[in-house]
Amino acid sequence: MTLRPSLFDLPIDDLPAPEGEGYRRAQLAEWLYVHGARSVDAMTTLPKAWRAALADDYAVSPFADVRRFPSWDGSVRYLFTLADGQRTEAVYMPYDGRKTVCVSSMVGCPAGCAFCATGALGFGRNLTRGEIVAQLLAVAWFEEFAPRELRNVVLMGMGEALLNYEAAVGAIRTWTDPRGLAMSARRITLSTVGLPSRIRRLAGEGLPLVLAVSLHAPDEATRKRIIPTAHAHALADIVASLHEWQEAGGRRVTVEYTMLDGVNDAPAQAAALARLLDGLTVHVNLIPFNPWPGSGFAATPRDGVRAFQDVLDRAGVSTSVRFSRGRDTGGACGQLALREGGTGAVGNPTRPPTSSLP
Ligand code: SF4
Repeated sequence: MTLRPSLFDLPIDDLPAPEGEGYRRAQLAEWLYVHGARSVDAMTTLPKAWRAALADDYAVSPFADVRRFPSWDGSVRYLFTLADGQRTEAVYMPYDGRKTVCVSSMVGCPAGCAFCATGALGFGRNLTRGEIVAQLLAVAWFEEFAPRELRNVVLMGMGEALLNYEAAVGAIRTWTDPRGLAMSARRITLSTVGLPSRIRRLAGEGLPLVLAVSLHAPDEATRKRIIPTAHAHALADIVASLHEWQEAGGRRVTVEYTMLDGVNDAPAQAAALARLLDGLTVHVNLIPFNPWPGSGFAATPRDGVRAFQDVLDRAGVSTSVRFSRGRDTGGACGQLALREGGTGAVGNPTRPPTSSLP
């Protein structure tokens, strides 16, 4: 375990360099983000004495332990133990020739959505910029490919990214920096429960991200039943902020809609959703609920999902049904940490690892 800051916590402009040798900063960035070096010692083009000084002050990885849980469907869930013993997770999805990682922005989540396993864990803490950045690097290390082969990121794991705004946007800047992972912002999806003031702030960042908004209900009463933050943020204000996001040059908005049997899946609710989204360039992702012990919800049957989708299709709303990957390793966000004894944030007992990496 290390209490040194991680080099991934630093914006690339702030990476250290020896006095009078600013070009070493670019070399250091290249080792981190192009070569995927896992230790300062591996950075062999840097002077040995400086490497020793660097290693005294900084760690590369911010993680005390990384465990990987491969699924039958090709996805791999990662469970990260942080320097303070808390845990968070990511999912690597290598499908259709594309490498995608779903990353977390927090340990647990304070939003407390009723159907969400992460919400049930409670809130541990915000992740640092480096802890968010390094989830991608760790996947590249352990899956053994060059970090820049990663082209797609979804900030959809544990946590509400817009409540950890500085760290999440900072991580996106490192991923998109040409000296960092040189990713296209258009291939980064940021998921939010719908915080209008933060969406407006994000619109001013000049980042053409894909914004995914978790609506999960077309009316206030249903939404308040399943999303506690709905009490503070009216649907009308969320939708107004989405219009502003699009007017500011933001791209298409994705609406996430988890289908809960008998709660939010009636055809009349589909019609109300279509009316609510009228005028937005939007795609609706219908997500069959992935049941977990104690959730108190059931998944909408397949024909119910189809009927809901039909209403949206007839209203001209673009839709798709998204089945979760990695169900056998703890499919939906938070389920792996839940099964493995929690995030370490709320005093859960810790079980021995089922698999471990050096
Ligand atoms: S659905 Fe997202 S915002 Fe809601 S509790 Fe889960 S992680 Fe947090």
